[in-house]
Amino acid sequence: MATAHPAEKSPSKPTNFRVGALVLDVDTNTILATGYTLELEGNIHAEQCCFMKLAKEHNVAEDQLGPLLPKNSVLYTTMEPCNKRLSGNLPCTERILNLKGVIKTVYVSVLEPEKFVRQNEGRKKLEDVGIKVELVGGLEDRILAVATAGHEQKGEV
Ligand SMILES: [Zn+2]
Repeated sequence: MATAHPAEKSPSKPTNFRVGALVLDVDTNTILATGYTLELEGNIHAEQCCFMKLAKEHNVAEDQLGPLLPKNSVLYTTMEPCNKRLSGNLPCTERILNLKGVIKTVYVSVLEPEKFVRQNEGRKKLEDVGIKVELVGGLEDRILAVATAGHEQKGEV
């Protein structure tokens, strides 16, 4: 618990949340990929980073990845997967849906603060196709402090 979280490796910028994510194969308890915001070149989110690494490993496009992954995988992410991106990039929610049911559960530590995108309806989209979204409490303060480092502080956080 005392080790640095991958999210803390993410560069602090005023324009994004620093998030860490990993994909786990539940059957073998194996971490398939880890990622954090801006780990890869470009405006890459943590979850996206995991999927891009896996796609590269399997030598396919990201949307072809689903059938190649263990059927009982889960995604852990410090912040709720995005549903809309101001940059026009494919939101992480859509990326999860593109994996066609491989991700059974998304474990989320904090919901997305309504700072950049007003409402996150991603959770509903995931639950509509049977993907569980579980909020895992307990580390919210630390995760939000890491996520928003580099943001302009306006009063109480
Ligand atoms: Zn995202």
